[in-house]
Amino acid sequence: MHAPLRVTDNRSSIRVGAFDSLMESVRSCRHCAGLIPEPRPILRAHPEARLLIVGQAPGQAVHRSGIPWNDPSGETLRRWMSIDRAHFYDPTRVAILPAGFCYPGRSAHGDLPPRPECARLWKSPLLASLPALRFTLLLGRYAHLLYLPETRSRSLAETVREGSRWLPDYLPLPHPSPRNRLWLRRHSWFEADILPLLRNRLEALWREPAGPPARSGITPPNPLFMPTGVPET
Ligand code: SF4
Repeated sequence: MHAPLRVTDNRSSIRVGAFDSLMESVRSCRHCAGLIPEPRPILRAHPEARLLIVGQAPGQAVHRSGIPWNDPSGETLRRWMSIDRAHFYDPTRVAILPAGFCYPGRSAHGDLPPRPECARLWKSPLLASLPALRFTLLLGRYAHLLYLPETRSRSLAETVREGSRWLPDYLPLPHPSPRNRLWLRRHSWFEADILPLLRNRLEALWREPAGPPARSGITPPNPLFMPTGVPET
């Protein structure tokens, strides 16, 4: 649950009410009822958040707990970020909006892709309500394609290796799932070259003053585009 907002004047009260109302609408969303095992949107956000984390969609464990990244993938992600749980789960620092907010169910090959309806219905209004975002971490192919559609013609490794070209606004990374351990072993440059970029960017981010940046680094996702099929990782 997000922490209470600081209310300083009438305009802030109006913004707080609108934000809370939007979050309540998202958490109540049942648009995919009948298409997924059980609609249960799992997300965190606060208008003061500076960092946005975009992953794939909740797995079964997160669906049950209701806590995003409360699983082995989250442990790996926090190690990559050099951040503890308290800071990771502080919504005034970190917003967590996966490509799909609900557990999508399983196929014979693993979890199904994130539902495309989330991006079409919710991403633009949510991003518009997060004016302090300065940096977006994109985890896995679905997140890359949703926010950086120009990466579609590149392999995951090419996109990740070229990650510095999207800094300081975005950094595309592989998904930290245990299923990707082999990929990580085969691409040793990731830990050696890319994780320092991530940690340096986060150190700079936490030093920046609170409030909206002079220039927003966030481009609303293409509402008409959502990847389908199973990505590389
Ligand atoms: S997957 Fe997204 S659009 Fe579908 S029910 Fe969940 S929140 Fe709503």
